[in-house]
Amino acid sequence: MTTYRQRLKQTFGYLFSGLSFDTVYYSRRNLHYGYVILSFHKIVTEPYFRPQMTLARDVFAGLLDYLHSRYEILSLEQLAEHDVDTPHDAIKIVLTFDDGYRDNYTNAYPELKIRRLPATIFLSTGYIGSQRILWWDLIDGIVRNYTSFSLADRAIIDAFIFNLLKVQRAEIRPVNNLTNVLVNKIKTISTHDRTIIEEQVLPLYHSIKNTHGNRLMLDWSEVVEMSGDMINFGGHTVNHPNLDDISTATLEYELMQCKQAIENKIARPVTTFAYPSGRHSATMYPLLHKHGYRLACTTNSGLYQPSKENIYCIPRIDITTQSVSVDGVNFSPALWNYQLFKNIQ
Ligand SMILES: [Zn+2]
Repeated sequence: MTTYRQRLKQTFGYLFSGLSFDTVYYSRRNLHYGYVILSFHKIVTEPYFRPQMTLARDVFAGLLDYLHSRYEILSLEQLAEHDVDTPHDAIKIVLTFDDGYRDNYTNAYPELKIRRLPATIFLSTGYIGSQRILWWDLIDGIVRNYTSFSLADRAIIDAFIFNLLKVQRAEIRPVNNLTNVLVNKIKTISTHDRTIIEEQVLPLYHSIKNTHGNRLMLDWSEVVEMSGDMINFGGHTVNHPNLDDISTATLEYELMQCKQAIENKIARPVTTFAYPSGRHSATMYPLLHKHGYRLACTTNSGLYQPSKENIYCIPRIDITTQSVSVDGVNFSPALWNYQLFKNIQ
């Protein structure tokens, strides 16, 4: 469905790029030193309950073709080594993925591979090749299958999810809305409290039929295969905690253990990092440096200009189906240009 707002954005995007305003704008604002670091989570061929984390594979392919024809695409590791004082003719692009979803291997990797494009995937290592799943997927699985649980199991779910978060299950429909309400509530509680919920309901999740066959996260053999072939891996902690909500000792463990786990598997240094849920502060920069990370990405929006931003506070532009496609299938260059303009102000 094309909304009035989307048509406006498209029109703006066409004007911005079509009449070469983009070239003039970038040179006026001296943005030639800039890098656009794109962030993705899931590259999908099927609907997912959080559209704000997904990009349809067809749209992703269209985006890659467009970027490939217009921009230089660097790896994040090259950015770390780049001579930041060298001006370049146009903004340069870097591709990154957060969390380590399995669809990065099944859907994103084939599209990157045929175009020979580099990308970095940030891994939360406690979830790679394990039975654990990220807490929002865990909550979704539990909520979606609520009626299939026994009364005793439902009592646990009621106590540790609905009552604890003060959400009335029956009042919110459809199920996607219910899960999103819970996810948004959980974002406001402490990592400690969230971990208690996870520990209580994870066994129930694994008792649901078919969840075993439907693996959500990458495993190490997939990581190793991609690692030899244009794909780099960065740290995203072990347990995906809110880093501003844990002790310094735990923070150091998360940084060090995650890096070691990846390096042991891919036999290459891991030098890049992304903050889980973007939660970070300047006090973390020296610790990242101490543990061998050379740069870190946030979830702040914007253009990265090395002369202006700290290398441990790199902004990115998050790309979803909705942000760069009108019909959910085709990539829209106009909407891309709108996103670019909006995010580099
Ligand atoms: Zn994450």
